Amino acid sequence: MKNVLLVKYGEIAMRGKNRYLVENRLIRTIIKRLDGYTGYRVYKEQGRILVVNEEGDFDYDTVIPIVVNILGVVAVCPGIEFEDQSIESLRRHALMHFKEHFPNGGVTFKVITRRSDKRYPMTGNEISADVGGYILHNTDGLKVDVHDPEVQLMVELRNNAYIYSKLIKGHGGLPYGSSGKATVLLSGGIDSPVAAFLTAKRGVEIEAVYFDSPPYTSERAKQKVMDLAERLSVFTGSIKLYIVPFTKTQLCIYEHTPPEKMTIFLKRAMLKAGEKIALKNKSHALVTGDSIGQVASQTMEAIYAIDSAAEIPVLRPLCAMDKQDIVDIAVDIGTFDISVRPYEDCCTVFVAKHPETKPKKSIIESMERKIEGLEELIDEAVENSEIVEF
Ligand code: ATP
Ligand code: MG
Repeated sequence: MKNVLLVKYGEIAMRGKNRYLVENRLIRTIIKRLDGYTGYRVYKEQGRILVVNEEGDFDYDTVIPIVVNILGVVAVCPGIEFEDQSIESLRRHALMHFKEHFPNGGVTFKVITRRSDKRYPMTGNEISADVGGYILHNTDGLKVDVHDPEVQLMVELRNNAYIYSKLIKGHGGLPYGSSGKATVLLSGGIDSPVAAFLTAKRGVEIEAVYFDSPPYTSERAKQKVMDLAERLSVFTGSIKLYIVPFTKTQLCIYEHTPPEKMTIFLKRAMLKAGEKIALKNKSHALVTGDSIGQVASQTMEAIYAIDSAAEIPVLRPLCAMDKQDIVDIAVDIGTFDISVRPYEDCCTVFVAKHPETKPKKSIIESMERKIEGLEELIDEAVENSEIVEF
């Protein structure tokens, strides 16, 4: 008998031919995140991913928080795996598992059995009734409740037998990497890390881009974005961050545009650079943390005037969310504390007191065309990107 962790994942999304690719990717992510903890092996058995420790005790307190946070994991269940599927063995193991997890009894419970091998001499219901009766008979203070039990003891008969009774919920969503790839414009703020998380949760592989403008933005601001990317890798397994040196581009825009229009041009330059990085990396969309009405560049007119800078779709997963809802998610995923560290980003340094809220797209585009050398500066910035991997 072995202690195991059963990993349940977004199976519905995985009926197609990509299923094994996505499963293998999830397995690789789990292996990667458990790297450094000795003895753990991750494998597949009939539609389940399982984690075991081949060398010693299974440290659930350490392993569960790591695995349950990986995107696409719907839930994890600590349990046991054993070979002998005879009814005597099922009874014995079920009782042992029950006593270990509920040493004081005092709960209502129900046994649910799933068998993939229909040749088993008893039906699922018969096994459940038998095993349930045995536990009841050998434990004090228990009650069966088939309608609304506090504990559901699961018996699963596959190539091996599995018993578990606790289900710890993950973030759900679709398995990471099953929905293509997108490039997130990651600033040091509260919003864009949440946008990145939500996009990744839909199964989209993400890479991140940060526009760095030293000396106007500090090393601390850059470190903060790196810390945010590292935090996001808890959910994705790994993440690539492009740090784009944007000072020259920004100064060029600063020199050639009126202050109230500066943010619009800057955002357009970010989209242009982001698009170049995305297309180099087989990524098919940009993602930003814009939320309608939050700041001047997030009015409908501004979004219209900004979006034409790039052909690639720009996704704004937070566009209709209230700030408090965004903050709640940021707290939940552990990015909030990093995001609120004091810093200055490239927009706050150059931004006008009263930025234009209703820019005209045609005017912006014609002004932009007259800024000599801007495209070349953006190309150069992208070329000189520093890549950090977490
Ligand atoms: P956030 O909280 O994500 O910083 P915000 O409310 O501060 O957003 P803005 O500063 O206008 O709003 O930024 C809007 C979006 O533009 C950000 O969510 C991010 O996607 C992108 N962005 C802004 N500045 C940068 C930057 N320096 N590097 C990368 N992306 C940026
Ligand atoms: Mg910001």
